[in-house]
Amino acid sequence: NSATKAPPTPSPLRFSKFFQSNMRILITGGAGFIGSHLVDRLMENEKNEVIVADNYFTGSKDNLKKWIGHPRFELIRHDVTEPLLVEVDQIYHLACPASPIFYKYNPVKTIKTNVIGTLNMLGLAKRVGARILLTSTSEVYGDPLVHPQDESYWGNVNPIGVRSCYDEGKRVAETLMFDYHRQHGIEIRIARIFNTYGPRMNIDDGRVVSNFIAQAIRNEPLTVQAPGTQTRSFCYVSDMVDGLIRLMEGENTGPINIGNPGEFTMVELAETVKELINPEVQIISVENTPDDPRQRKPDITKAKELLGWEPKIKLRDGLPLMEDDFRQRLGVPRKN
Ligand code: NAD
Ligand code: UDP
Ligand code: UDP
Repeated sequence: NSATKAPPTPSPLRFSKFFQSNMRILITGGAGFIGSHLVDRLMENEKNEVIVADNYFTGSKDNLKKWIGHPRFELIRHDVTEPLLVEVDQIYHLACPASPIFYKYNPVKTIKTNVIGTLNMLGLAKRVGARILLTSTSEVYGDPLVHPQDESYWGNVNPIGVRSCYDEGKRVAETLMFDYHRQHGIEIRIARIFNTYGPRMNIDDGRVVSNFIAQAIRNEPLTVQAPGTQTRSFCYVSDMVDGLIRLMEGENTGPINIGNPGEFTMVELAETVKELINPEVQIISVENTPDDPRQRKPDITKAKELLGWEPKIKLRDGLPLMEDDFRQRLGVPRKN
């Protein structure tokens, strides 16, 4: 008899929310490049408490040093392939190496992180009733046969290639997200992130923007991998963080592409870095890696319409901001 049914007992978490209206937010991979910028933005809001869980594989405490010891901030050394018990309202699930050299370094670990790690975070979201956002990737489109890529495209991915621990891993992570949503009613958000750059990228992580900037500063040749006509679209990290927060706070599950539609060949990127950072530097052609996607550019119609989001920072404006950070870390000041 529903008339006599007691109302559900609020969990301690809901109680604290009721009295303080604070939002407790977990960020997995929060010691990494995008994650640490997301922490900075979320910590600006005094109602947010932020918990970072990271195993420091590609991230570092250094990226979070300004928050360590802050009363609204907590940092846990934790590997997401193991279960995690915390009480939170939102989960930004970023934990996963993003650079090809790091995700190929231990491919079995990469796929475990994507599959078991995402399963654990979904189990956590289910237990505490939290909303969860997954940072998926444009790599789910593989070497795309549709250009630009919109979210309805299913992709062209090699299931047994050297990149598949990452791209197939993210595809399974997306599947798990939708199955938990349909089967258990979990509130999910999926961002398909396109190439992102900015301060705090690992200097030697092998990604193209960090490589070219470090090479230009060290006066080493810029290594364009053949043929050099392959394209990418680069989003500055502050725009990316803004898009992720809008997606989390909005009403749409996604998947939604978040990226900058400005498309460049790798030769054009090298020439731009040369012009802006070191006009003396050489540009050379080197061998490429297998399964390198030939072109990539997001269709961001959905992000514009559903999130009111589009990137603001052009590549020419973002590169010098990243140069400042790299010069500081490499200890090479600008000549003037
Ligand atoms: P990053 O490598 O700088 O950050 C990833 C973080 O996850 C690191 O701090 C790392 O230590 C942590 N991590 C890795 N495995 C873990 C594990 N098993 N348990 C706990 N922590 C673990 O990469 P990023 O560029 O900041 O990328 C963040 C997310 O965005 C990733 O999910 C990535 O797949 C996605 N993404 C990034 C890009 C990009 O261009 N940067 C593009 C597409 C998608
Ligand atoms: N899990 C977790 N934290 C939680 C709840 C669950 O890490 O607070 C993990 C749990 O260990 C399991 C996974 O999430 O491996 C999926 O949990 P779920 O409850 O959905 O499935 P089950 O435990 O029934 O397999
Ligand atoms: N690339 C390059 N020189 C480098 C590193 C990468 O020309 O020193 C090229 C690479 O072949 C690819 C593009 O840059 O076509 C982007 O590579 P990255 O590893 O940055 O990201 P992803 O392939 O994941 O988009």
